[in-house]
Amino acid sequence: MDDRREVVGRFAPTPSGGMHLGNLFCSLLAWLSAKKHGGRVVLRIEDLDAERSKLEYTRQLEKDLRTLGLFWDEGGLTEGAPGPYCQSQRAPFYEEQLEKLKSLGLVYRCFCSRAQLHAANAPHASDGEPIYPGTCARLSPEEADALSKTRPPALRLRVPDEDIPFTDLHYGPQRQNLSRACGDFILRRSDGVFAYQLAVVADDGAMGVTQVVRGRDLLSSTARQLYLYRLLGFPAPQFAHAPMLLAPDGRRLSKRDGDVSLPALLQAGFTPEDITGRLAFCAGLLERPRALSPRALLPYFSWEKVPKEDVCLPEGLFRK
Ligand code: GLU
Repeated sequence: MDDRREVVGRFAPTPSGGMHLGNLFCSLLAWLSAKKHGGRVVLRIEDLDAERSKLEYTRQLEKDLRTLGLFWDEGGLTEGAPGPYCQSQRAPFYEEQLEKLKSLGLVYRCFCSRAQLHAANAPHASDGEPIYPGTCARLSPEEADALSKTRPPALRLRVPDEDIPFTDLHYGPQRQNLSRACGDFILRRSDGVFAYQLAVVADDGAMGVTQVVRGRDLLSSTARQLYLYRLLGFPAPQFAHAPMLLAPDGRRLSKRDGDVSLPALLQAGFTPEDITGRLAFCAGLLERPRALSPRALLPYFSWEKVPKEDVCLPEGLFRK
């Protein structure tokens, strides 16, 4: 990345439920990392999956971010902004990006069902997804046309058999060979919904994002995204992955399990500063929990203090 570029960070929440402490933890780090360098923050609503996403959750997450003082400079539902910043409204833009990839001859139709892929005796990637064995890459155009009459295809992107290196701002040097790690990946599902990988790159590219801070669970998506940046001709951002904040027993926090939400904590008597200060303590920024707003936390922020290992919420930290 060109270090002279203005830092543009982002929040990219999926409005599929109330934000839990893990989402807020990551949002706090994204905000601090951008603002530490005098940057801006964009809020993009990742509501591609219409079944899981709800407008009421978007409203709630905007309210939660504002309550904590995690203000964004651009985006969200705000009227009048040069958006749209909701992915559900950006399909024509994704279509254009898909056309660019098609014109490079790198996109093909895939008729494999999820069940077939999972049943196949193919190796699985670290995230449990099967590595696509390239079955439909070998279809002739005539064979693909014939199959298209029986079911709608998904679209996949051919990946190279080469290492894609990058340096994560927090986890350091990384490399991944896409053909070994995941195989040709989906750009658009058979139901017409654009895939996260394409949408996130197209949007971060178009919105001028220069710094992506997000959970470590997406570290393994980064090489796919860098490959897409290269093909689509957008400058790649810097990536900083954050450790995951886990429940005291080491379990992943989940929106569906109703893990502590901000409204519940406020109800219990915590102030917004109590919450951001406790999250900063979990992130290694403070030696003990103190009540501090995001702005007041700026002098304490540095990626070097943030642990690499996932962080278990200390028992009782968010109990009154
Ligand atoms: N929308 C994704 C999520 O809520 C984050 C995607 C990203 O940060 O790249 O998990």
